[in-house]
Amino acid sequence: MHTTPALAAVDTFPTLRLVTHPLVQHKLTVLRDRATPTKQFKELVDEIAMLMAYEATSDLTLEPVPVDTPLERMTGMQVSGKKLTLVPILRAGLGMVEGIARLVPSARVGHIGLYRDHDTLEPVDYYFKVPSDAAERDFFVLDPMLATGGSAAAAVGSLKRAGAARIRFLCLVAAPEGVRRLASAHPDVMVYAAALDRELNEHGYILPGLGDAGDRLFGTR
Ligand code: URA
Repeated sequence: MHTTPALAAVDTFPTLRLVTHPLVQHKLTVLRDRATPTKQFKELVDEIAMLMAYEATSDLTLEPVPVDTPLERMTGMQVSGKKLTLVPILRAGLGMVEGIARLVPSARVGHIGLYRDHDTLEPVDYYFKVPSDAAERDFFVLDPMLATGGSAAAAVGSLKRAGAARIRFLCLVAAPEGVRRLASAHPDVMVYAAALDRELNEHGYILPGLGDAGDRLFGTR
């Protein structure tokens, strides 16, 4: 029997991993507060993204490597051969890049920009740039909010068409609708989130959520 919401969520949403670390949860609560100003909001998104990346990279494989300490030679460990690529979905995903890049300085950064076509209502790429050796890379798609899942599913689809085979999705707050939609389009993509919120409202905002992440990050509210 499951005792925590995070474990219960794994049953209902098999592709979802909730990052329940107390520091992440504390920072997320400050982030949600409508009174948190832009400067602090930006710093918190950066910090939470870094802490989440710590969890989302916990299965990276290691290989032994010799290292000379000031006293003697020993065998240390290094991350083996993974080429990590961060792909923020424009524009709010940009707020998550620097924190993760501090943890993984060798990571490359691609970008995906999407807009919704007025007629079809489907997301369309207006910008797409990722490293050319996509098939050899591990991708982390970044967007603070996984709301309807439309942009997330489209971004992952574009990455797969470019040759990407190993993709994870990192967000701060997920809605059940978004997790379901991404899982049904791309069941191979694990979603890392700091919270699974209740629902979407009629405008596609997550409730209780934190408002418009892009506006709060860039002060455009
Ligand atoms: N995008 C946001 O920035 N906030 C939401 O609640 C949903 C989508």
